[in-house]
Amino acid sequence: MLLRHTSKEVKERNALTINPAKTCQPVGAMYASLGIHGCLPHSHGSQGCCSYHRSALTRHYKEPVMAGTSSFTEGTSVFGGQSNLITAFENMFNVYDPDIIAVHTTCLSETIGDDVSQIAQKAYDDGKVPEGKYIIQASTPSYVGSHVTGFANMCTAIAKDLPVYTEEKNSTINILPGWVEPSDMKEIKRIMKAMKVPFIMFPDTSGVMDAPMTGTHEFFPKGGTKISDLKKSGSSAFTFALGKFCSEDAATQLKKGCGVPFETMEIPFGIKATDRFLMKVSEITGCPIPEEIAVERGQLVDMITDMEQYLFGKKVALFGDPDTIIPLSEFLSDIGMVPKHIVSGTPGNYFMEKMGEIVPDANVKNGPQADMYLMHQWIKNESVDLLIGNTYGKYIARDENIPFVRMGFPIYDRVGHSYFPLVGYKGAIRLLEKILTVIMDKVDAEAKEEKFELVM
Ligand code: SF4
Repeated sequence: MLLRHTSKEVKERNALTINPAKTCQPVGAMYASLGIHGCLPHSHGSQGCCSYHRSALTRHYKEPVMAGTSSFTEGTSVFGGQSNLITAFENMFNVYDPDIIAVHTTCLSETIGDDVSQIAQKAYDDGKVPEGKYIIQASTPSYVGSHVTGFANMCTAIAKDLPVYTEEKNSTINILPGWVEPSDMKEIKRIMKAMKVPFIMFPDTSGVMDAPMTGTHEFFPKGGTKISDLKKSGSSAFTFALGKFCSEDAATQLKKGCGVPFETMEIPFGIKATDRFLMKVSEITGCPIPEEIAVERGQLVDMITDMEQYLFGKKVALFGDPDTIIPLSEFLSDIGMVPKHIVSGTPGNYFMEKMGEIVPDANVKNGPQADMYLMHQWIKNESVDLLIGNTYGKYIARDENIPFVRMGFPIYDRVGHSYFPLVGYKGAIRLLEKILTVIMDKVDAEAKEEKFELVM
C-alpha cells in the first residue's frame, strides 16, 4: 500500500493541500505559447521553475520543449529582473530567431513585483525587438489559480496583443479549443473541414507537441497558429470559446478589442457537448453537419447501447481540470454511469454550480483543498468501479484495486493521448473503449473459471 497513511476519516482543512490535483500556472502558459507557430516561450524567474515547466510538458507530450529563462539569481531577486529579461530578448532574437516571444512570470518575479509589460515596452523602445517580431506577456503567479489559469492568461495575452480590429467582418469563425491534446485540436479541425467551415484556431499545438521524428531537429516545428492568422482573427464573424475556465477570458478580450461576438461552450467531450457545439457552429455559419459526422454519432450511440450492461449504475471517481470534468460528468451520466466523487484543484464558483446541475448527488469539491488525498479518503468511505484522471491517480487505483482510465494532464506513464483524440463523437467512442477495456479486464481477471466468458 503506497498510500497507507491516508486516513478514512475526513477532517475539514482550510490551509493544507496534500497531493494537489493541479500544477502551477506557468506550465499552462507555456503550453498555450507553444500553440503559436514560431513562438519561443520565456519564463521570467529562476532556472529551476523553467526546468520544471519544460519537463512537465516534455514528460506528458514526449516532445522536446524549448523555452528561455531570465535565470534569476540572489541579486536579481533583490534588484529586479529587468536587465536579465532585456538581455534575454536580445539573445533569443539573435540566436534562435523566433517570430514571437511569449513571456510568463513565476512566483518569484511576481512577488518582487517586476512589471513585465513595462520591460517589454522598454525592449521595443530600445530597438531590441527586430522589425516584424513580437513580445507578448502574461502574469502567471502560481500561488493563485492553477495550470488552467496560466493557460487562460496566456490565451488572453494572445487575444489582447495580436488580433487586428477591422470594421468589416468576414465569414470565418475563431475557435479557442481550451486545454486539450494536440490530437483533440486536430480532431476539431477535421470536423470543421468536414463541415466546410472557415476557421482560425488558437492556440493550436497540433504539429508542435505531436511532431513526427524526421531525423532533423526543428527548433520551431511546422504546426501552431500563424501570426498572420492571429492578426486576421480580429476580422472573424464569431468566436467559440471552448471551456469557460480556459477560453472565456480570451474571447472576452477579443470582443473588447476587435468587436468579435462569442459564445462560451463546453469542450466537446461526450455526445451532448458535441451535439451542442456542432449545432451551434452550423447555426452560426450556415454550414450543415455532413453525413460522415452523423454516422460517427450513430456509431457512438450503437456502442453505448451494445455495452450498456457494463456501464449502467457503475460508480465513478474523477479528478482533473474543470473544463474537462464538466462535459465528462455529463457524458458519464448519459451512458448510465454514476459520477460519485469529483475533485478539481482549479478554483472557480462556476464549476460547483455546473456540478450541482449535472451531478447533484456527487461529492464535489474544487480549489486548493480539493486534492488527491481527499479523493482517496472519499473512495475509502465509498468505493467506486472506475477512476478517471491523470497519472497521479495510479497510486489510488493500485491501492484500492480500481480500474483506472488516464485522461487529462499530466499523463507521464502511458502514450497515445497526443495521437488519439477524445473530443467529438469519434473521441467519445475512444473514451468509451478505454472505459470498457479497464472495466472488462477486471471482470475477466476476477471471474471464476466456470464464469470466464469468451464472448462478453
Ligand atoms: S516557484 Fe512557483 S512558478 Fe516556480 S515552479 Fe514553483 S509554483 Fe511554479
